[in-house]
Amino acid sequence: MYIVIGGGVVGLHAAIALSQQPNHPEIFLLEREQYLGDHTSGRNSEVIHAGFAYPIGSLKAKWCVEGNALTYEWLDKLQVPYKKCGKWLVAFTPDEVPALEATLKNGEACGVREMREATLAELKVKEPEMNDFAGVIFAKTSGMMDVASYIRALERYFAAQENCHIIYPCGVTGIDPVKNIVETTRGPMDYSLLVNCGGLFADEVYKMASGKKDYRIKPFKGEYMIWRKGKIQEVVYPVPRRFLPGGDKDKRLVSSMGIHLHRGVGGDLYVGPTQVELDWSQKTDYSLTTPPEEFAREASLYIQGVKVEDLQQAYAGNRPKLYIDGKSYGDFLIAVEGNQIHTLGTDSPGLTASPAIGQEVLRLSKTLS
Ligand SMILES: Cc1cc2nc3c(=O)[nH]c(=O)nc-3n(C[C@H](O)[C@H](O)[C@H](O)COP(=O)(O)OP(=O)(O)OC[C@H]3O[C@@H](n4cnc5c(N)ncnc54)[C@H](O)[C@@H]3O)c2cc1C
Repeated sequence: MYIVIGGGVVGLHAAIALSQQPNHPEIFLLEREQYLGDHTSGRNSEVIHAGFAYPIGSLKAKWCVEGNALTYEWLDKLQVPYKKCGKWLVAFTPDEVPALEATLKNGEACGVREMREATLAELKVKEPEMNDFAGVIFAKTSGMMDVASYIRALERYFAAQENCHIIYPCGVTGIDPVKNIVETTRGPMDYSLLVNCGGLFADEVYKMASGKKDYRIKPFKGEYMIWRKGKIQEVVYPVPRRFLPGGDKDKRLVSSMGIHLHRGVGGDLYVGPTQVELDWSQKTDYSLTTPPEEFAREASLYIQGVKVEDLQQAYAGNRPKLYIDGKSYGDFLIAVEGNQIHTLGTDSPGLTASPAIGQEVLRLSKTLS
């Protein structure tokens, strides 16, 4: 029997990938919350990233580029609402232009297609009220999805396969790696393969399974506000933070895209997310504490006339950043220990990368049998 722990997009795609093997054993996806996607998968920007922002050769770059194409295939197959609208990247000032150029080169080296230098005039045709930026890039393969529908559709798809089951609420509370038994809130279950897709809690599951390495997950909160009066239709981002001077030395910035404006598939215009480092113990602290003035200030970098009274608190999500031996790691990690596969540090762009991570879990599972 295969057990996948965690009903976010990574667990769903891992379980689906395993279910596509002919004659697979029974597969159980266990989620401890009342519904799937209650944590990071349901609390993000819903952006299908192109993959230009991550270090060349990193798993984030590889699986984001692969996952981008696979995600659109899944969205089509499952008839989930999305828009392949592309993404504008802007330099606010002339000193940010070299970072914008570095982003373009990085994207090319990572295999991102259809990303190019653009002009302010092109952007202004679509968004005439935006500020006069010092530089503009357009990434055509970026898009927006309805993540709640995506999670429900993946759940339905997996649960409809032969010998595939989803159980929730069902928390894994202990693991005996010698007897191959997981203890759950619904009783013990045995396994021949265990896949840990615990997101923010993947380090705790790893330790439960007697993992000896010093893997720890630290939450980094991202808060969003809705700009009710905003008319922006396009997805507009600043230069990724790691390309700004000194940014490459701070691994915590690898996935830091900065506060941006995006209109979700549902129609709301969001400003966010912030990036605030929380304490190790605050994995489920989703409180909204950033003053609206800060969002108004950030949004004003793109467009004038953002008023605090027009901003509405929305939601927060916590990025599960991996630390190894106390140091920020900055990439995804898949650790294989015996018949266990652990996905760790799946922060952004994990939504986009999830189908590619699922394929990697499948590949690794074949090396174990
Ligand atoms: C602010 C923010 C913005 C982001 N924006 C984007 C974006 O625009 N595009 C993008 O590609 N990515 C984005 N991401 C990243 C993306 O959301 C995550 O990488 C992805 O959702 C991680 O999915 P997951 O399945 O690993 O984790 P989760 O969704 O957290 O799922 C893990 C699940 O495991 C369950 N679990 C844990 N322990 C146990 C246990 N012991 N027993 C049973 N169940 C357990 C949890 O309850 C949880 O449901 C963003 C993240 C944040 C926080």
